[in-house]
Amino acid sequence: MNDDLIELYQEVIMEHNRHPRNYGVLADANREASGFNPLCGDKIHLKLHVAADNTITAVMFEGNGCAISIASASLLTEILHGKTVTEAYSLFEQFHELLTGHPTEAPLGKLAVFAGVNAFPARVKCATLAWHTLKAALLNNNVIVSTETGHE
Ligand code: ZN
Repeated sequence: MNDDLIELYQEVIMEHNRHPRNYGVLADANREASGFNPLCGDKIHLKLHVAADNTITAVMFEGNGCAISIASASLLTEILHGKTVTEAYSLFEQFHELLTGHPTEAPLGKLAVFAGVNAFPARVKCATLAWHTLKAALLNNNVIVSTETGHE
């Protein structure tokens, strides 16, 4: 990866960590889940509103953890707004491939900066925590997932 992308990666992570988007409690949520990454201590609680036509009309999160986990959750809430549940699953797959070094050609927008995590394998779980939590919320409302033990 070139220096420009590493710099952009660090800028985006730091900025979203300082000013997380859509941080707080979503009043009319109909899907939610908690995620925990014990390797780093990251905790994310995600609340969504999914409309009858399967469009995600609102997403908010709360949590505490390292800059990567918070920035990833913040970007997730931004990118999911207005997406369908099917599109959300597909983004999860693309994001996971990007982080594990098998990027697809699909445009990921701002999420592309997370390719930087590739250089730090220990941080992949920090970056994917919000996404595992999202999947849990969509599949199985109101559960707790851990990056280490799966469903609890
Ligand atoms: Zn972390």
